[in-house]
Amino acid sequence: MGEYTNVTEIFGEDVFNDSVMQQRLPKKVYKELKQTILEGKELSLEVADVIAHEMKEWAIEKGATHYTHWFQPLTGVTAEKHDAFITAPLPSGKVLMSFSGKELIKGEPDASSFPSGGLRATFEARGYTAWDCTSPAFVRHDAAGATLCIPTAFCSYTGEALDQKTPLLRSMQAVGTQALRLVRLFGDTTAKRVIPSVGAEQEYFLVSEKMFSKRKDLVFTGRTLFGAMPPKGQEMDDHYLGTIRQRVSAYMKHVNEELWKLGVTAKTQHNEVAPAQHELAPIFAEANVEVDHNQIIMQTLKRVASQHGMKCLLHEKPFAGVNGSGKHNNWSLTTDTGVNLLDPGYTPHENIQFLLILSCVLKAVDRHADLLRESASDVGNDHRLGANEAPPAIVSVFLGDQLTDVMTQLITTGMADHSIESEKLETGVKSIPEFMRDTTDRNRTSPFAFTGNKFEFRMVGSRDSIAPANVVLNTIVAEAFKEACDELEKAEDFSLAVHDLIKKNFTEHQRIVFNGNGYSQEWVEEAERRGLPNLTCMVEAVDTLTSEKAVELFEKFGVFTKAELESRQEIKYETYSKAINIEAKTMLDIAGKQIIPAVIKYTKNLADSINAIVSAGVLDVDVQTELLQLTSQLLKETKEAMENLKTVSEKAHDMEDGRDKAYFYRRQVIPAMDALRKPVDELEMIVDKEIWPMPSYGDLLFEV
Ligand code: ADP
Ligand code: MG
Repeated sequence: MGEYTNVTEIFGEDVFNDSVMQQRLPKKVYKELKQTILEGKELSLEVADVIAHEMKEWAIEKGATHYTHWFQPLTGVTAEKHDAFITAPLPSGKVLMSFSGKELIKGEPDASSFPSGGLRATFEARGYTAWDCTSPAFVRHDAAGATLCIPTAFCSYTGEALDQKTPLLRSMQAVGTQALRLVRLFGDTTAKRVIPSVGAEQEYFLVSEKMFSKRKDLVFTGRTLFGAMPPKGQEMDDHYLGTIRQRVSAYMKHVNEELWKLGVTAKTQHNEVAPAQHELAPIFAEANVEVDHNQIIMQTLKRVASQHGMKCLLHEKPFAGVNGSGKHNNWSLTTDTGVNLLDPGYTPHENIQFLLILSCVLKAVDRHADLLRESASDVGNDHRLGANEAPPAIVSVFLGDQLTDVMTQLITTGMADHSIESEKLETGVKSIPEFMRDTTDRNRTSPFAFTGNKFEFRMVGSRDSIAPANVVLNTIVAEAFKEACDELEKAEDFSLAVHDLIKKNFTEHQRIVFNGNGYSQEWVEEAERRGLPNLTCMVEAVDTLTSEKAVELFEKFGVFTKAELESRQEIKYETYSKAINIEAKTMLDIAGKQIIPAVIKYTKNLADSINAIVSAGVLDVDVQTELLQLTSQLLKETKEAMENLKTVSEKAHDMEDGRDKAYFYRRQVIPAMDALRKPVDELEMIVDKEIWPMPSYGDLLFEV
């Protein structure tokens, strides 16, 4: 039995959080820091010096020897450069531990090897990391010992964003400002800030490390590039919410403890749809804190897995034909006085502020469905979005019966005078208490669903940062709010004007609402009739980043400049090409060095046994001969497909970086990869398991 954990005792013990700051910082310093955190007031260097000193003392007590600015460049993972606290030796030969305010607030990693998409000319490779004091510093314990991690934003010498954090903070300001204007119109005079709240549910797979290391495709690309389906997949639905296996339970316990210490509110855990697939969800937090926490969650999942002899796969589609992994991004807006602006109350038709906000969200999503789709685009996510799997690549909004009804009343009669009421849930079993069921059922196929008091954006891939999705959500909603406020602030009759505006927004943007089955072919056709974009792959989605509409939107709110958008687009095309290139090379490597030799060995064994049987005087070797012929045929197809893949991927590789190259990978290289996979997967079904050079899907999925 494992030991029991006292959660309240360990929670946040490795975080430089508010209570630590209050305890350790002089009152005046604490107050100034709080003003910076809450109101964005500039922090003086003297104050930073005091904070840095206390932070260092605290970290050293936790065993820290180093500190690092922890940032999120556009590589998709976090980056850090560690510095020890030590000073130059004193005359006595001893060293001191020091950490200055300047070191706390500003870092200068050598930025030249991070992607910048042409933003940084090569002669000016400088980049700065700047302390994001709104996300708390923490001490991380791992094989490197203990390290003080300071969340930072990462910018170029001239202030352009080179990371995920900077635009996120900018977008939070944008939506916060506009949302505050909006609540003021409805008489809220006490709220000082409105902050986006985000909760991200993280899906992942666990496989045994031993199996993993025998699969070069998993090692190099994070997903399997070959693999025939096992006799049993997820069709029995017996894994979803099933009893968690002991080995996995022990892992989850360990993960939770690590996360709790780091102040991450790991809350829910369960088995997912596919065998070996699981989910972890924290309690929601302010958007930028949640973005950091999600990174911590992903790192912790991986690190702890290796301590348990397992590998955590965060790829969006580790196994073809098996459910992929995503990250549901739950989003709402909360005032600093604790009011959730997306809470409709029991009678939404009477809640005018809510209806205005809802109609603005619909307008925002309808207008910028392409950008929202883009925010979830990633090489691996192409295997989910639009590929007959959850969720579809078409963005639509699920409202549910009650709100759709209110919307329809408003559109058709100009008035909404009732809300569909919730009903009692009766099970027919006396001993089970009755309760009111939710007014909306769930719709698991919708990419953007209203779920009671928040929206759940389900497109983000399991491996990706949730920052881009929230940048887009914050900014597009800021725009719709701004337009509403511009109009309503100057209205003579406010209640008439707000009523008209809600009706107008709903009427003009109702096409984005879809409550039906998002996976169906009918929806694809219906969406096309409605004129909704269907961007079926990452490269198409990335094209939309620099549209006139996108540039205007992001520049208006100071979230991205045109140059920043262009740089991000450039980086994404390049990332795409590089990732597919690695996959193609890995396939060629595995096929050439492992599969073909194994198949040849198998055919040789077959031929030998045929000869042996014939020399023994038995003439009926039809089955063996047929098998030999089929195998040889598939071997030939494999060899040809390899040649073809080699040719197209070499051609792709020689192209100049950019859009055309990415499209070439998409249109030429990917089909060539599929063509190679096909005969190999067929061979796997024929060739002796003893001879097949790597673990099968069955081994990987059912043997943790
Ligand atoms: P689900 O709705 O998916 O069944 P939950 O209600 O537990 O599950 O919520 C899923 C995630 O949404 C959790 O991370 C939760 O903290 C988060 N969440 C709940 N309320 C909000 C909110 N108002 N804003 C943002 N996220 C929220
Ligand atoms: Mg959910």
